[in-house]
Amino acid sequence: MEGYKPCVKCGLNYSERHHIIYKSSAKYMEFIPINIIYLCREHHRGNHSPHKNDKINKQYKLDFQRKLESLFIKSNYNELEISEILEVNIKEVMRIVKTLKYYEEGYRTRELIKRCLGGMFYD
Ligand SMILES: [Zn+2]
Ligand SMILES: [Zn+2]
Repeated sequence: MEGYKPCVKCGLNYSERHHIIYKSSAKYMEFIPINIIYLCREHHRGNHSPHKNDKINKQYKLDFQRKLESLFIKSNYNELEISEILEVNIKEVMRIVKTLKYYEEGYRTRELIKRCLGGMFYD
């Protein structure tokens, strides 16, 4: 909910929801909690915000990639494991893995992370 969480940058309470990976590039990431951060108006839309500054935008995405890499440490995962790690239901997981190949050992972590990032890596 807007306004109820503090800005992750400055702690101000009147914050807005920001999708690190934009809905326009990955609609399936819209309801994934770790893809959502709260930013005050200034840190969300001001000059030093991800929407106005490419470098800042890229930094948030890179941090998100690092976070995913720290969460997914095995080489393969199945749907249930992904749902537990991302704290979402299976339906949301199915939207993410829809285009991924399921191997005998599960989805490949590298492909899964890339998909969570909207189809590209940031390092
Ligand atoms: Zn702020
Ligand atoms: Zn935003």
